[in-house]
Amino acid sequence: MNTSELKQAIMQAKKDTGTLVLAHTYQDPDIIDIADISGDSFALSKAAAKMPEVRRVLLCGVRFMADTVKILSPEKEVVLSHRKATCPMAEQISPERVRAFRQENPDVCVCAYINTSTELKAECDVCVTSSTAVKIVSSLPSKKVLFIPDQNLGSYVAKFVPEKEIILWDGCCPTHHSVSVKDVQDAKAKHPGAKIAVHPECRKEVVALCDFIGSTSEIINYCKSVSDDVVIATEKGVCDKLSRDYPERGFFQLAPTKLVCPNMKMTTLQNVYDAILGNFGDVIEIEEELRLKAKRSIDNMLKYGG
Ligand code: SF4
Repeated sequence: MNTSELKQAIMQAKKDTGTLVLAHTYQDPDIIDIADISGDSFALSKAAAKMPEVRRVLLCGVRFMADTVKILSPEKEVVLSHRKATCPMAEQISPERVRAFRQENPDVCVCAYINTSTELKAECDVCVTSSTAVKIVSSLPSKKVLFIPDQNLGSYVAKFVPEKEIILWDGCCPTHHSVSVKDVQDAKAKHPGAKIAVHPECRKEVVALCDFIGSTSEIINYCKSVSDDVVIATEKGVCDKLSRDYPERGFFQLAPTKLVCPNMKMTTLQNVYDAILGNFGDVIEIEEELRLKAKRSIDNMLKYGG
């Protein structure tokens, strides 16, 4: 089948099997095309949870995203689009290490980026997304906070919440962390006058040179709100989406060879078709006690972040 025939076959297979397809914005544009909903990982999980009539969900993204859908919608069958699609940042600290830290530091609140495994979420007090992290950390009752695993998002938060003592872990997103100051300087020289929008998973010295800092959806909203050209300093999927949605505008990818997440790009359109038919992907199973512990961190995220 060519791409167009495959897309048609996917639309039919979705109907035949009653499968809702969720795609993270970093997925290939062809996958975004056939998805029922695309967006940030937590937005996808919330959207699925609000659809009780949906019994089966295919998450095109990485494992922690499919896990989060399952944590919020345990009654649904949740399938990850590719068994090997994982986020390296999600397991950069072990649950045992968090437990040991807690025992040594009982007065410290443990805050986990949503990009973590279910086992890590279960060991933490609260989760955050990149768009809610500052608000949530500033609302926590504890003065000391261990922020795991992303040192870059953690240091971004620390800058805005000086009243807290933020202890950083040394994890990072390998894709965003690979961007250098020189990449930003090169982009400024190539696109003079353009704004630069950056994800806080980038290094703090990179973030400091940019005009706008935000999550995937915040960057998209920012680009819609300004008339300037914008250089996009996050995973390539965001610039691809903006360029497709607004072909008359000037959107440029910063560091185009670096800002491509190999894990997010692992899933192909053929994988999606096969997974909808039950011949590919991974059905997510989470033991109930673990799910409830992990859900508590997400519930606290909603409590403190709104
Ligand atoms: S872009 Fe970074 S944080 Fe997102 S899935 Fe890829 S490795 Fe993980």
